[in-house]
Amino acid sequence: MIIKNGLIYYRGEIVKRDIEIEGNKIVRIGKNIEGESYNAEGKLILPGLVNTHTHLAMTLLRGYADDLPLNEWLENYIWPAESKLKGEDVYYGSLLGIVEMIKSGTTCFNDMYFFMDKTADAVVESGIRGVLSHGCIELSDPKKGEREIKESLRIMKICEKNDRTEFMFGPHAPYTCSKEFLMKIKDLADKYKKYIHIHVSETENEVKGIEKQYKMKPMEYLEDFLNENVLIAHAVHLTEKEIKILKEKNVKVSHNPVSNLKLSSGIAPVPELLKNDILVSLGTDGTASNNSLNIFEDLKIMALIHKLKDPKNLNANECLKIATENGGKALNLKIGKIEEGYFADLIFIDLRSASLNPEHNLISNIVYSMDTESIKDVMVDGKFVMQNRKIITLDEEKIIEKTEEIAKDLVNR
Ligand SMILES: [Zn+2]
Repeated sequence: MIIKNGLIYYRGEIVKRDIEIEGNKIVRIGKNIEGESYNAEGKLILPGLVNTHTHLAMTLLRGYADDLPLNEWLENYIWPAESKLKGEDVYYGSLLGIVEMIKSGTTCFNDMYFFMDKTADAVVESGIRGVLSHGCIELSDPKKGEREIKESLRIMKICEKNDRTEFMFGPHAPYTCSKEFLMKIKDLADKYKKYIHIHVSETENEVKGIEKQYKMKPMEYLEDFLNENVLIAHAVHLTEKEIKILKEKNVKVSHNPVSNLKLSSGIAPVPELLKNDILVSLGTDGTASNNSLNIFEDLKIMALIHKLKDPKNLNANECLKIATENGGKALNLKIGKIEEGYFADLIFIDLRSASLNPEHNLISNIVYSMDTESIKDVMVDGKFVMQNRKIITLDEEKIIEKTEEIAKDLVNR
C-alpha cells in the first residue's frame, strides 16, 4: 500500500512524501510513488507515539483515590484494591487503556503489572503493540523471588507467540527487590537476550531509605546491576555522580512528568540528562496516578515544566522526538520513526482542525495546541486499528460498560 499526498514527520521535519508499506513495514519513502494507494490529502502523518511506562489495568482505579500523599494513596487505597484483582479484571482494564491510547495516538506501550497473560490477550485482540513485564515484588524472600521468576518466564513464553507482544523483565524497584534478586534478573536478561524495566528514584523518601540502609545513593547502590539493557522509570532525584553513572552505563530513562507532579514526587532533571546524551523517553505511568493515558498531555506538560528556568529548554522538536524516536530506542524496537525498515505504526491527523491552524510551525502546534480529537486514523503493524475515530478491532461501548461494572465491584469486594 502507498500512502499518498500526506505531510509526514520525517527526520525532524514536516515534508510532503509518499510512504510505501509492505506487510507490516515501511519499505520506501519518496515522491510520487505509484501503486495501490490510500489518499492522505489534508492529513499529517506521525509515527505512533510510544508510552514507555504504564500499568495499564490501573484504568480500573482511575479517580478512585486522588489528591493524597504517595504512602497513604498506596497503602490505604491502591494496594488493598490491587490485592483483590483477578485475571478477567486485568483483561478488561487493559482493553479500556488500549482504547484510550489508540484514540490519543499511542501505538506502543511498555507495561508492568500482574496477570500479564491477560494484557497480552488484550494486545493481540486490539492490534496495538505492547512490551510486557510481570512486575516482580520479591521483598527479600527467596521463595517469593522464585515464584516471580517463574511467572516472568511464563509471560516471556506467551509474548513470544505474537509479533506485537514483546517481553521485558520487570523487577518492581530496589525497595521491593533485594540486590541479590536484581542480579539474578540481570543474569536471566543476559541469558534470554531480554531487557529490564524497573522503577528507581521516584520519591525523596525512597532515596532516603536506600541511603539509610546502604549508605549510598540509589544509582551507586545499583551500579553493578545497571547497563544498556535497563530502562528506568522516573529517575527524579539524581546527583551529578548518579547522572555520570547513568551515562557511563548507557542506561535509558522513562520520564513521567504528570505522575511525578500529581504525587508531588518532584521534577526529573531532564535537561541535564539530555545534555549528557542519556536517552530520555516519555511515559504516563498508571491511570491511578496520572490519571490519563493521553500522552499528548504529558508531552506538553514535559515541555512546560522544564522551561521553569529557561524557555529554551526542550524545544517542541526535541519533545516530539522524545515521545516517538526515543521511545522506540528505549524499547529497542524499530518504531517511533517514519523510516525505511521501521514498523508501519502511524497516526493520521486532520490538518483542518482549529487547534492546528494557522500552520506557522506544525511541530509547535502538535506539542503545544493540538486537540487529540484531530487524530482520525491509527495504523499499527501495517493495519488500521482506528478509522475516522472508530476503533475497528474492539467494541468500545461494551468495554466501557464492562469496566464500569468491574471497577464498582472491585472496590466493594
Ligand atoms: Zn510506575
